[in-house]
Amino acid sequence: MDAKKLTEEYGCLVFNDKLMRERLPKDIYKAVHKTIELGTHLELDVANCVAAAMKEWAVENGATHFTHWFQPMTGLTAEKHDSFITPLDDGSVIMEFSGKELIKGEPDASSFPSGGLRATFEARGYTAWDPSSPAFIKDGSLYIPTAFCSYGGEALDKKTPLLRSMEALSKEAVKVLHLLGYTDVKRVNTTIGSEQEYFLIDKDYYKKRKDLLFTGRTLIGAPATKGQEMEDHYFGVIKPKVSAYMHDLDEELWKLGIPAKTKHNEVAPAQHELAPVFETANVAVDHNQLTMEVMKKVADKHNLACLLHEKPFEGINGSGKHNNWSVCTDTGMNLLDPGKKPGENTPFLVFLMAVIAAVDEYAPILRLSVASAGNDHRLGGNEAPPAIISIFVGDELAEVLKSVEEGSAYQGAGKVQMALGATVLPHFTKDNTDRNRTSPFAFTGNKFEFRMPGSAVSVANANIVLNTAVAEELDKLYAQLEGFEGAALEEKIKEVLKKTLEEHKRVLFNGNGYTDEWVQEAAKRGLPNLKSLPEAMPYWISKESIDLFTKHGIFTEQELHSRYEILLENYSKSIHIEALTMQEMIRKDLTEGILSYEKDITKEMVQKQQLLGEGSGALEKEVLKVLDGSSSEMYKALTKLAQDTATAETKTDILEQASFYQETVLSDMDELRKYADQAEAMIPDKYLGYPTYGQMLFSVR
Ligand code: ADP
Ligand code: MG
Repeated sequence: MDAKKLTEEYGCLVFNDKLMRERLPKDIYKAVHKTIELGTHLELDVANCVAAAMKEWAVENGATHFTHWFQPMTGLTAEKHDSFITPLDDGSVIMEFSGKELIKGEPDASSFPSGGLRATFEARGYTAWDPSSPAFIKDGSLYIPTAFCSYGGEALDKKTPLLRSMEALSKEAVKVLHLLGYTDVKRVNTTIGSEQEYFLIDKDYYKKRKDLLFTGRTLIGAPATKGQEMEDHYFGVIKPKVSAYMHDLDEELWKLGIPAKTKHNEVAPAQHELAPVFETANVAVDHNQLTMEVMKKVADKHNLACLLHEKPFEGINGSGKHNNWSVCTDTGMNLLDPGKKPGENTPFLVFLMAVIAAVDEYAPILRLSVASAGNDHRLGGNEAPPAIISIFVGDELAEVLKSVEEGSAYQGAGKVQMALGATVLPHFTKDNTDRNRTSPFAFTGNKFEFRMPGSAVSVANANIVLNTAVAEELDKLYAQLEGFEGAALEEKIKEVLKKTLEEHKRVLFNGNGYTDEWVQEAAKRGLPNLKSLPEAMPYWISKESIDLFTKHGIFTEQELHSRYEILLENYSKSIHIEALTMQEMIRKDLTEGILSYEKDITKEMVQKQQLLGEGSGALEKEVLKVLDGSSSEMYKALTKLAQDTATAETKTDILEQASFYQETVLSDMDELRKYADQAEAMIPDKYLGYPTYGQMLFSVR
């Protein structure tokens, strides 16, 4: 797609604002806009009008069906297609689509995870149109983004609580801003840009690995002789096959109105990243779900497989999804932009403090918002941020905060000119904050970057928790400032900011998060270090969590419990499938490789001995001996894993079960892998029924 075509075709598959303006009567367009901007209720006659225009456009563009598109607790998206046709008596059909069909769907909810929220006999569920995320065409269907809830109105998805959390944050933020004199602000928007990391490998290799097919990550595999130690992949020249893929991917995303912006090679071999321009939170979340889907589809066309798992390969970096997060008013003010004089920028300081307090106070819940079986392999591995949550603010903000604490005036660092030592190079000013890749939560100029989310899961959860926690802290700040005006308010703000900072400054850390000293220091500061999902899980249904989420109307207590169950069950099931897959691969594929190699060596040895006498065949004997040693250890470990996997299944308490998988089954798998990889490393590739690490990581050219 050339540049001209791009501007013409960008968003051509989206029923966007421009189309609505063109195709809807003025008053209808205004009504929809009001709903989108201010979250007001939408009347049925408006919906009827929008539905008719949407259908007309969709049919013009070749769509025959429509589907409500939603995000159940599987973490994936779901869809069920209906055609537009209405048969007539004369044997012909017309294409119809009503406002009712647009705003409400009734899928059977009984086969989606609900964590005990509804019994199987209460199968009914509802999907409800989210007008703030635009409808689009894909594979001949009109896709309508929707929320998904049970017959009783409980949220069964990720969108509903996300929208609730955006509204809660907006409500509290507007309250504070009005108090600070910004009375024209009506709504505050959460903005998100989520950078997506992924691996690309050859599809034929992918299909030969049961572990990748069933679990998304490799469960065995001796390391390749080269990994990421040469630091030659990050930002490296993009190989032609990958470049062609990225090119197609961009085009497909652009057509869907997804603002794909940056693409580059990542640290690990075969690892890449895509970053979009930021958008309103719920649209960004929908777009990220779509991006993951399109990434896989386009890969398939290029004879590649796109791996989105957080840790597809042992020994090299896994993949994350950096969540860049900010808040912006409907009057265009980015509340996390420090401006030229951050020390005097009251809204900035108030919002900054709310974020610091939120991250400190709700660290365990924030940790949980990114917890999954896959992501546990990544956090704390000296490649992603540690499981300890801290905030990096950089030098300049640290100075600003110091002045808040000391009550002194902040003078401002001023911009520093860069001198590169060659006059031909341009002169530019240096950023006031450096980068810190080890921090889980880093201030990056005009937004925070939450680096813990994993690559495979929806970023909805992380933002639900972040929005809600910040809403709560804003409410607390408001309560302390309410009733003050003018100079008294200014004084009070200083006092409250100082007090809040003193309470929460333990969460601020500008140093290297990978060191052991930090782990000890963090423990001294009382910061939680929750290494695994089962360890963190009880916090989700703690009093603190229930109070937070129910107060702001994000989750009811039942909804929290349902999510608790779903997360734990999902975790245990994932590891269970991994354990079974690993056993099967070792029993069948690896064992076959070992035995056929041993058979050939033995044959070789016997022939040699016939020729040269009994004493010959030393090499074969040696190889056989070592291989035999590893395999017999491997079979012992395999037996233990099989026994423990069976024991895990008998546990009835879901938390106890998940802990057992984490503590026992996962470490059995580690032990087993050690011997399996030892054996594999000795066998020539041609004996293995599956591709090696070296083949998978370095074959795409
Ligand atoms: P880096 O890898 O250095 O963090 P990238 O350019 O890859 O930088 O990603 C930065 C991301 O931050 C982009 O997705 C960008 O759209 C997003 N971003 C920029 N400003 C904001 C903002 N105000 N709110 C949310 N996200 C933002
Ligand atoms: Mg980043």
